[in-house]
Amino acid sequence: MTTVLFDGVGNICDFCGLESDAFTDFACASFTHNGGTPFSIRYECAWGACPACAVLVKENRWEELLDRSVKFGIPACAKPLGVEAQVREDLSRLHAEFRKHRLEVH
Ligand SMILES: [Zn+2]
Repeated sequence: MTTVLFDGVGNICDFCGLESDAFTDFACASFTHNGGTPFSIRYECAWGACPACAVLVKENRWEELLDRSVKFGIPACAKPLGVEAQVREDLSRLHAEFRKHRLEVH
């Protein structure tokens, strides 16, 4: 089974997927999301957050971050397919794994 390596994409926020000129990096230990499934993704880098997402991460506003990630993270063409509930559930688990593996800055 193939695991895709997620290594961040240029100037795209790792949480909401929107482009940004400024990012806050949140150090995070490597982990595999959806391990053992066809959707297995290995995360091996710090997570870059756009200003709006960075505030939500710093203030532990996870439900709002999830709302934002779902709102902007699903391509408009996929919304009529009714995938939002599935994406929301998957992102909720992904954010939980991020919190678990996040390296606190001291
Ligand atoms: Zn963002």
